[in-house]
Amino acid sequence: MNIKDEGAMVVFSGGQDSTTCLFWALERYAKVEAVTFDYGQRHSKEIECAKKICADLGVQHTILDMSLLGQLTENALTRDSIKVEAGEEGHLPSTFVDGRNMLFLTFAAVAAKQKGLRNIVTGVCETDFSGYPDCRDIFIKSLNVTLNLAMDHSFVIHTPLMWIDKSETWELADKMGKLEYVRDNTLTCYNGIMGAGCGECPACKLRNHGLEKYLARRE
Ligand code: ZN
Repeated sequence: MNIKDEGAMVVFSGGQDSTTCLFWALERYAKVEAVTFDYGQRHSKEIECAKKICADLGVQHTILDMSLLGQLTENALTRDSIKVEAGEEGHLPSTFVDGRNMLFLTFAAVAAKQKGLRNIVTGVCETDFSGYPDCRDIFIKSLNVTLNLAMDHSFVIHTPLMWIDKSETWELADKMGKLEYVRDNTLTCYNGIMGAGCGECPACKLRNHGLEKYLARRE
């Protein structure tokens, strides 16, 4: 079977990166589905945002309850009492959840196989590397082998953003004609503000700086 003929499951949070990945998958595969993980994020808005985008794009959407992550770990994404802070040198940011991407990708693979989808698409990126070990390319390649062995299947994990920076992620969305959609309809901000966000949190700074950089280059 031709890989192109097979569908894709996109790990989808409703943010800039995974929405760009969703458009990327829609350009390549006839059948695209999305899976979102509900792990007690600070903002249930994130889930609402993901739902709306899938409805807009006519993508079948599965939301999986991963609230046990909140029981296992203490971090700024699931505990309002913990401040969102960028990592100091040698330390991970307070938003880090141990093993999160590994768990999410594993559950996405189980769901994908059930639905007959071979490709798994995730927006992880090593370029704006914030220290999350399970966002690294080497980890993704390792997990791909492990999943194939675990489920006797030939998944292909795609990471379209792995080696590009935020400005290039905006460029990718623009080349697909989706820059405005991504800019206005996604939620990246740790304070739960749509689009350009609060402008102050680490996620907003990264996103907005990337957009400025891209727009300056485009003109
Ligand atoms: Zn923000």
